[in-house]
Amino acid sequence: MKELRYLEDVSTLVLDEEKCIGCTLCTEVCPQAVFEMRQGKACIVDFNACMECGACVNNCPSEAIAVSPGVG
Ligand code: SF4
Ligand code: SF4
Repeated sequence: MKELRYLEDVSTLVLDEEKCIGCTLCTEVCPQAVFEMRQGKACIVDFNACMECGACVNNCPSEAIAVSPGVG
């Protein structure tokens, strides 16, 4: 689904890399390939692909990710 695009620069997605414990779950559940693992931490590699579905937030065990669905 990576080809689907949304409005630019309006996503409310926030990642706190300090809280990330490197579990990789966000890279697995995100349907848009927004995250990649780099040096043991998640990082946002395609911010504007985020459709604010909340899957990453709901599966992150360390509350490192926040998003407000429908706001962006
Ligand atoms: S909210 Fe959905 S689309 Fe956006 S980064 Fe999280 S899992 Fe991916
Ligand atoms: S789900 Fe949370 S803890 Fe796991 S890699 Fe992603 S940001 Fe880090």
